[in-house]
Amino acid sequence: MNTQQVGKVYLVGAGPGDPGLLTLKGLRCLQEADLILYDGLVNPILLRHTGANAERTARTGRGAHRHLDQDEINRRLIAAAKEGKTVVRLKGGDPFIFGRGSEEAAALADAGIPYEIVPGITAATAAAEYAGISLTHRAHASAVAFITGHEDPSKPKSALDYEVLAKFPGTLVFYMGLHQLPRLAAALIEAGKPAETPAAVVSRATTPHQRTVEAPLEDLPAAVRQAGVPAPSLIIVGDCVEHRQQLAWYENRPLLGRRIGITRPEHQAAPQIQRLYELGAEPVLLPTIRILPPESWDKIDATLDVLDRYDWIVFTSANGVASLLDRLWERGGDLRKLGSARTAAIGSATADAMRERHLQPDLVPDEFRAEALAEALTPHVAGKRVLWARANRGRDVLPNQLRAAGAELDELVVYHNEDVTGLPEAVLESITAGQLDWIGLSSPSIARSLNALLPQAARAHLGTSVRLAAISPVTAEAAREVGLPVSAVATEFTWDGIFDAIIAEERTAPLTGAEPGGC
Ligand code: SAH
Repeated sequence: MNTQQVGKVYLVGAGPGDPGLLTLKGLRCLQEADLILYDGLVNPILLRHTGANAERTARTGRGAHRHLDQDEINRRLIAAAKEGKTVVRLKGGDPFIFGRGSEEAAALADAGIPYEIVPGITAATAAAEYAGISLTHRAHASAVAFITGHEDPSKPKSALDYEVLAKFPGTLVFYMGLHQLPRLAAALIEAGKPAETPAAVVSRATTPHQRTVEAPLEDLPAAVRQAGVPAPSLIIVGDCVEHRQQLAWYENRPLLGRRIGITRPEHQAAPQIQRLYELGAEPVLLPTIRILPPESWDKIDATLDVLDRYDWIVFTSANGVASLLDRLWERGGDLRKLGSARTAAIGSATADAMRERHLQPDLVPDEFRAEALAEALTPHVAGKRVLWARANRGRDVLPNQLRAAGAELDELVVYHNEDVTGLPEAVLESITAGQLDWIGLSSPSIARSLNALLPQAARAHLGTSVRLAAISPVTAEAAREVGLPVSAVATEFTWDGIFDAIIAEERTAPLTGAEPGGC
């Protein structure tokens, strides 16, 4: 007999697309899961929050995703829970709103498996609000109806009672495919809904590719056909739609629909992912280097024991800060070990990593580059002992200048960075399909490794459909040296600076032929 304790299944709503619209409880489930089965509407970027095995259960039309039918999904959930696993069934929007979540819960109940249901933000409210529509605007609607129209078009008789829907005293929201829109609009009007009722279709709501088409009910099918918006989409019918123009906040974002490659190591990309979503863009993870612990801790540990002998401790990356200070902490030490040493950081990200660990930088140069850091340190280091917490590779500017200024410099390798061996297949495909708009380059070594990773077919698109933005003139120069064309250079040497440079370049030279949404 199986004496193992039975696990638990969480039916979790993933929200409609924007990864920020997951609940805190949903997040905790992802963090604790052993296995995740997610459906085709779920934004896969949410899987960053989990170390679990994750499997997609529906086709999306791209790639060879495995398709599981409903019985098989139920069987998998039950079998994994019986093995003692914590299982998350992650579903687009809310699990019980037109999502078959209740059937899955019933199967779990039948099998005696413990489960919980974690509601999510359903597409109707999210799409309406991101399109600037209040479904229950006080002046227009005292009720709202969620209606599914996933009907078989070959059925002679519709399952929907259009007479009732036409008389409904409020807003109608249809979760349905756009091919059914002409029939829906005609049937509603025939049943007595005024042809001029304001209506809208919201496509790919809450994603960077959201588009809204607005027209009187009678004209909506033609307007949607002309705009060519893709699935998934919702149809909203009601007077509340007319206030939309005033409240259309989301689709005004400066980088709406742009796909932007982030070349940072994946575990450090969270701030850039968030920033790009705020700007309306879709982040595409494209790490070219990996950050690894040092090959040996011996020399670092020995240095940590004598840190207070140094007059200055210099950090040139957030990784260097994390590696040295976290090791200090893990070995039972704390910041008192630094004695009266002063500290320097090359830029804001490095300084932030220090502050997070309650260490104030004494010196941060105005310009975030090695030359500026060396120059700022020069007046302070003659005859002084300086420790530089560095990576295994990098430029020689800083050590050369500090030694020239009379510093007694110790270089301590506190982490390794190495090139990845290949870019994800999906990323290469999107470059050759012209679906990536920009790639940010945040250091000379990243520029060089990207160059080495791009096959010829992908390189042909650089500078035209895929543009490069460099974090600084030094990085731009390194990119150009290896033959990579650079279209924008940041004036503030941070990732935010890269995004600002992209926005400025898009204003003066938008990509020809690219539609917002990149479709
Ligand atoms: N459980 C989901 C709905 C599943 S039914 C929820 O609560 O949102 C699938 C339908 O939802 C799609 O055909 C489409 O009509 C709608 N939908 C889901 N996500 C959407 C999105 N991001 N934008 C527009 N419509 C969406």
